[in-house]
Amino acid sequence: MSQALAPVLGEATIQELREAVRGEVLTAQDNGYEEARRVWNGAFEEVRPSLVVRCTGAADVIAAVGFARSNDLTIAVRGGGHSVAGFSTCADGIVIDLSPMNGVRVDPVALRASVGAGAVWADVDHETQTHGLATTGGLVSTTGVAGFTLGGGIGWTMREFGLACDNLAAADVVTADGRLVRASEGENPELLWGLRGGGGNFGIVTQFEFDLHPLGPMIYAGPVFFPAAASGDLLHAFRDWAGTAPDEITAVVNLTTAPPLPVIPEEWHGKKVVALVAASTGPVDEGDALVSALRGVAEPVADLLGPMPYHAIQTLLDPLWQKGIHSYFKATNLARLDDELIERLCAVHLAAPGPQCEIHVHQMGGAVGRVPEGATAFAERSMPFVLNAVTGWHDDSPDVAEAHTEWARTVVAAASEASTGRAYVNFLGDSDGDAARSAYGEETYTRLVALKSEYDPTNVFRLNQNIEPQGA
Ligand SMILES: Cc1cc2nc3c(=O)[nH]c(=O)nc-3n(C[C@H](O)[C@H](O)[C@H](O)COP(=O)(O)OP(=O)(O)OC[C@H]3O[C@@H](n4cnc5c(N)ncnc54)[C@H](O)[C@@H]3O)c2cc1C
Repeated sequence: MSQALAPVLGEATIQELREAVRGEVLTAQDNGYEEARRVWNGAFEEVRPSLVVRCTGAADVIAAVGFARSNDLTIAVRGGGHSVAGFSTCADGIVIDLSPMNGVRVDPVALRASVGAGAVWADVDHETQTHGLATTGGLVSTTGVAGFTLGGGIGWTMREFGLACDNLAAADVVTADGRLVRASEGENPELLWGLRGGGGNFGIVTQFEFDLHPLGPMIYAGPVFFPAAASGDLLHAFRDWAGTAPDEITAVVNLTTAPPLPVIPEEWHGKKVVALVAASTGPVDEGDALVSALRGVAEPVADLLGPMPYHAIQTLLDPLWQKGIHSYFKATNLARLDDELIERLCAVHLAAPGPQCEIHVHQMGGAVGRVPEGATAFAERSMPFVLNAVTGWHDDSPDVAEAHTEWARTVVAAASEASTGRAYVNFLGDSDGDAARSAYGEETYTRLVALKSEYDPTNVFRLNQNIEPQGA
């Protein structure tokens, strides 16, 4: 028996699990464990679970949950492994890894995709684009469908098609007591309500069903980079434009540092810039007109906004955010983007401690805003913007980590007066107990607690922005 396993599990016990599942069960002694235990965020590089179970289907998930409960093991659930807060791994516990369950089946007539819970957005886009279809996915294509959708899902097509969770028509869920239940409008509708934004609190989803929409293969999309000196002008123009822009366009302003990409003139590499990144679900030849008010704010450093394959905008940011980077995010929903906030954001941008410190201001509204408040667990719908401070670094010294984390907190603190007080749970890099309550707001949180108490009364699924069941 290994030292690592000694305090928790014996080999005979692990053998029971190996016999109960079809997927691999990996301990520190097995080839493949080192790779299997790693998550996207390198800040959690040292975390060593006792077991990683690579599930091949719902039966494996049921067996793994039962095994974890019998042996009193902490459960971490992993879809794409992109949790910024490190929820999809745990020291000494069990990782229920769904990544082998990444099949995607498209029904082009019914405009539906059935997606395995281990799929990433690249898997979905590959299958759906073959039929000229799409659903709202992530800005980085290696992000998992599961965690992304269950938290909400902000993406390039959201103002026309809705958030990812708004396109979630049904799901199969393994509950804490090992049942496989269906959540849809007709079956367990309250559970479906909770899966649309309430995170992984209620069980382990094994299969998702999404609504699809005609799109592509070419769309109007891409980034325009301007010198950082234009940040204020761009943010002012963006604020005035965002409220009246049609649903087909979704845009983000990103205060960042020019990456060393061949498409950006070399003299700008490593310099502070501001990027407008946009995508349109409308006709390609109407795209220019949609963004003309923004494009003219300054002489661009590089202008790549134009016709491009949908696939290209979906993967554009992938090279900058690869697995193993250390990362911290902090976010808040904005009630307004006022002059004072713009001034503060421009200043804090210039004080960023590293080249992968980004301030994202997401344009919301459109289809996202028309879903009635309370219709889904992604509760707040009226905010015009979401602010997200995104950081990444490669040096694992604590000082560097602290500088990046503190900077992200400063960005969000700068917005305290303009904030609605709520936040999008998937953009929160902290895992403290109160995060969920304040992110959801009291009314939604109370309803989530009732649902949690029904489906997971002993908080088996607690590595998430946790909703504590009653009496826990
Ligand atoms: C590089 C990067 C880019 C991002 N871009 C965006 C973006 O454009 N828009 C956006 O909205 N968000 C974005 N995010 C945030 C992202 O939505 C969350 O990190 C999300 O949790 C990732 O999902 P995952 O399946 O990869 O995560 P995982 O780490 O696998 O899972 C995260 C959590 O989700 C829950 N979970 C996962 N799978 C299941 C399941 N099958 N059943 C039940 N619960 C489950 C668990 O609680 C788990 O701990 C980004 C994150 C990163 C790191």
